[in-house]
Amino acid sequence: MAMRVAQVIREIPSVARDLYENHVTKHFKVIAPTVLHVNVNLRCNTNCVMCSIWELKSPHALGIAQFETIFSDQVYRRIEYIILAGGEPTLRNDLAEIVEVMHKHMPRLKKLMIPSNIINRNSIEKQYPQIARYCAEHRIRLTLGVSLDGIAETHDKIRGVKGAFEKVMGNIAFMKELQKKTPFNMSIDPTIFSMNLHEMQKLNDLAKRLDMPITFQIAAVANDYYHNGDMDVLKIDNRGRLRLIEFLKRRIEESSLLDALAYYYAEVVENMEGASARGLPCPFADQGLLLNPDGSLQYCHNSRPIGNVLETSSSQLYHAPENIAYRDKVRNETCPSCRMSCLFFVSLRKEVLPFLSFVIKRMFGIHRLKWRKPKGSQPSAMQA
Ligand code: SF4
Ligand code: SF4
Repeated sequence: MAMRVAQVIREIPSVARDLYENHVTKHFKVIAPTVLHVNVNLRCNTNCVMCSIWELKSPHALGIAQFETIFSDQVYRRIEYIILAGGEPTLRNDLAEIVEVMHKHMPRLKKLMIPSNIINRNSIEKQYPQIARYCAEHRIRLTLGVSLDGIAETHDKIRGVKGAFEKVMGNIAFMKELQKKTPFNMSIDPTIFSMNLHEMQKLNDLAKRLDMPITFQIAAVANDYYHNGDMDVLKIDNRGRLRLIEFLKRRIEESSLLDALAYYYAEVVENMEGASARGLPCPFADQGLLLNPDGSLQYCHNSRPIGNVLETSSSQLYHAPENIAYRDKVRNETCPSCRMSCLFFVSLRKEVLPFLSFVIKRMFGIHRLKWRKPKGSQPSAMQA
């Protein structure tokens, strides 16, 4: 308890600074990025049906020396949240070194998230203990997001690997042992779409049995990243839509008042019920960067590359007036229909008012899902 209070007190100055920046500063100046997504490779050891990254067999990967040069740019000095992804990031042998290089140049780093299919025990054993130790020693909150999409054959079919489920379960047990020596967070993060809608409850029960948090993420379309724009398997029919709505509403009811996940689920329900405009804030809309293994830099998953850091510095690319104008265009034209949800909780922390209003309405029993019921809006593109 005392530790929690101390943690909250430690956070007060940065919350106050964020509030000022996000409600005042950003209206007259471009604010530096605070969130960063790094794709360390675009290779994968699974053949998922909802993503085509594994088909790319991309040879690109930035080396440690290149990361050193790239991240020594001042534009990264204020990064606080990082997603280290791929492809499958643990396939790199030097993931721990990448983490250290990033932290060296990003002294404000608070939280590091690594999504992984945790199928390959060798890679996990090589990478994870070292990363966990480093983060614990440097007070960086580390979260391993386990991509587990179903029980037994359902997971195997989705990931296109026979025996994948058994491997994941074995590796979760290994990671839990590691957690006893070095504390870090580990959660189950299923990607929900037509093939596993029927197993959401079972996944929820499994997470409870394993005593792990679970975040149901609805499969998002990001054609330039997942290359999944035309995949029929992502479409959810009407029966599935109703099932998903009912399931998420139950999760909202069961969640605690301050649970940010309830806000995300409420947003998904609204969208499934026909809301056309996105209500979920996204930190990549005004303070994010995404770096690819070939050095191309984007503002977010759904922005086009704004240049290549191997040719032009990240600062120049981030602040170039034509790129900033393009980002405004993305915000106005793409964000309203974008369903990416990465790091949405960062925005809830930085622009606390929408979340507070949600919490207050829940307190008074005014259901957000009703008061924001849209008029004549279109259902999500993901629905069949
Ligand atoms: S979803 Fe993840 S694990 Fe699956 S192929 Fe794509 S990058 Fe690999
Ligand atoms: S397009 Fe999507 S990922 Fe990009 S800033 Fe907007 S909401 Fe975020």
